[in-house]
Amino acid sequence: MRDFSKVKRIVVKVGTNLLTNENGIDEERIKRICAEIAELKNLGYQVILVSSGAIGMGAKVLKHKSPVVHIPLRQAFAAIGNPILMSSYQKAFSSYNIVAAQVLITRSVLNNRKSYVNLRSAVSTLLALGTVPIFNENDVVSTAEIGNVFGDNDRMSAMVASKIEADLLILLTDIDGIYTSDPKKDKDAKMLHTIDKITDDVMSYAKGKGSAFSTGGMKTKLLAAKIAKDGGCATIIASGYEENILVRLIKGEEIGTLILPSSRLSARERWIIDASANGTIIVDDGAKKALLNNKSLLPTGIVKVIGNFNEKEVVLVTDSYGNGLLKAVTNFSSSDLRALIGHKSQEIESILGKGRRDVVFRPEDTSPVEHNV
Ligand code: GLU
Repeated sequence: MRDFSKVKRIVVKVGTNLLTNENGIDEERIKRICAEIAELKNLGYQVILVSSGAIGMGAKVLKHKSPVVHIPLRQAFAAIGNPILMSSYQKAFSSYNIVAAQVLITRSVLNNRKSYVNLRSAVSTLLALGTVPIFNENDVVSTAEIGNVFGDNDRMSAMVASKIEADLLILLTDIDGIYTSDPKKDKDAKMLHTIDKITDDVMSYAKGKGSAFSTGGMKTKLLAAKIAKDGGCATIIASGYEENILVRLIKGEEIGTLILPSSRLSARERWIIDASANGTIIVDDGAKKALLNNKSLLPTGIVKVIGNFNEKEVVLVTDSYGNGLLKAVTNFSSSDLRALIGHKSQEIESILGKGRRDVVFRPEDTSPVEHNV
């Protein structure tokens, strides 16, 4: 039996395949998921739902059959599909006197510390009010052509789980766990019940593939589990077709694949890890050594600054060979840093004026790049 006695906050992610059938929304499936979430809430857990299916729903309403690749169409289908999805959830939850709340986010909401803190307090309030917040990526405005997107809801659900300090992320999918190879093609494929470390071997078991309307596959699920793991959150990948799956999982039944959490990094470290870098600072060998020894970065160690960023934004720091060393919150904008290249800390004031910090960033403002996926 698995022990989830310390779990309080759970993020459940359901994929498009699970929620839609040939006619559109699978109302029965939605009812079952809501019934199970209601039971989790009765048992005292706080539950956040991450639901895909907006684009798939929109496509089905307009009788679009092929995969939706054209970006404006994905945006339009998401705008059509998400309210339909939400109204099904609201209807299903209302049988249990539960109110559903819609939360649409973009990657930049989590990148920006102010909006992230804002989101966190909104979610805490929604949970305190007893509602079930239902997250989706705001596909209408958040498209790959703009860049900086979650790209799939597996990754988004893991980032949400990490940011809001969830203890357990449950990824419900149409496969019952992570196998050593494709169980449909290989009769010797074995399911992994517990994963402690997400090694290259484990990653090699999963080949990324989604359906016509969704983007996730086993690979994205493992990458998501890695994000959750760094956030101190366990992940279970299991089949949403299993009867009463959520309650059975939380009671410790060994269904699906459990990916164990690492010890939880601080909220600030997690924010730095999950934020996408706005630019790159290339440092020389001396500065690299200092950084690896947990020291601050001084302007004299900078070789080059790539991209445009403001102070207090997250940047990637690499050595001169392009190896990523860490991510950091910089005290200077890219243009200020360019003016400081090769100069000593004592010269900052004469170059940029009074009242500026004497280091580019301190060790507390960084997170090692190996955590990033
Ligand atoms: N946000 C997309 C939708 O609701 C789904 C993304 C995914 O498949 O992971 O349709």
